[in-house]
Amino acid sequence: MHLATLASGSSGNSIVVGHEKRNFLVDCGISLKATLHNLAILDIAPSEIEGIFITHEHSDHIKGVGAVARKLKIPIYASAKIWDELNPSIGKLKDEQRVVVKDAFTCAGLRVRVFPTSHDSQESFGVRVEVEQPVKGRSRAIGIATDTGIVTEEMHQALKGCDALVVEANHDREMLWQGGYPWYLKKRISGNYGHLENSQLAEGLLQWIEGNTQRIVLAHLSDENNTPETALSTILRILKESRVAKENRDLRLRVAPRYTPHELIVLEEY
Ligand SMILES: [Zn+2]
Ligand SMILES: [Zn+2]
Repeated sequence: MHLATLASGSSGNSIVVGHEKRNFLVDCGISLKATLHNLAILDIAPSEIEGIFITHEHSDHIKGVGAVARKLKIPIYASAKIWDELNPSIGKLKDEQRVVVKDAFTCAGLRVRVFPTSHDSQESFGVRVEVEQPVKGRSRAIGIATDTGIVTEEMHQALKGCDALVVEANHDREMLWQGGYPWYLKKRISGNYGHLENSQLAEGLLQWIEGNTQRIVLAHLSDENNTPETALSTILRILKESRVAKENRDLRLRVAPRYTPHELIVLEEY
């Protein structure tokens, strides 16, 4: 399996997840042009994208979804409530391109388990992705969760032991409260339905890093209230003080670039 972020942050989010030449996108919050451009950088052809899952209806996650689905003639997977929000503005789609998702679905030969996050949209979700038909009965697992104010119990269950994680390190608590955002926005971001703070994510990671966890991509960093250096140093400090450091595992922690793709992370099959 493989994965990469195409873009990350409030200016637009999209992640490609795949297996051999089959892929799907988690969110499409950048334009059609930027989506195709960033896929090309990763050497992924448009014909190799088989669907788009929408985590929630905020514009930084759906900006390009209608145009990309039309251009590539692929289905969009979203919950019924998120479809209610998408429908008025998404433009023309064929009926078969509107797939209503509950707890799980299959796309591009991948089994996608959907779990709730805690965010101020109609609904919001993360995913755990595994191959549909593992070769020797075991599959790698990729966990994705951004846009959540707290770490939910469902997140713990789904993200535990994933080989690779793309998870939100939105802001640094000090930077947010010392910064220039209006009071209501500070309350929104730091609230239970806002975004994860660096050390909150680190506490989550302490529970999720298990088994073969090897790659972690920090995503959805705030431009104003975080920096890649702050996120990495805060999280590494917390991990170093924990059992994770004693396990001597080969763990690679990276920050997702805002506008350009992260290099393709390839997880070797068992
Ligand atoms: Zn959001
Ligand atoms: Zn977002």
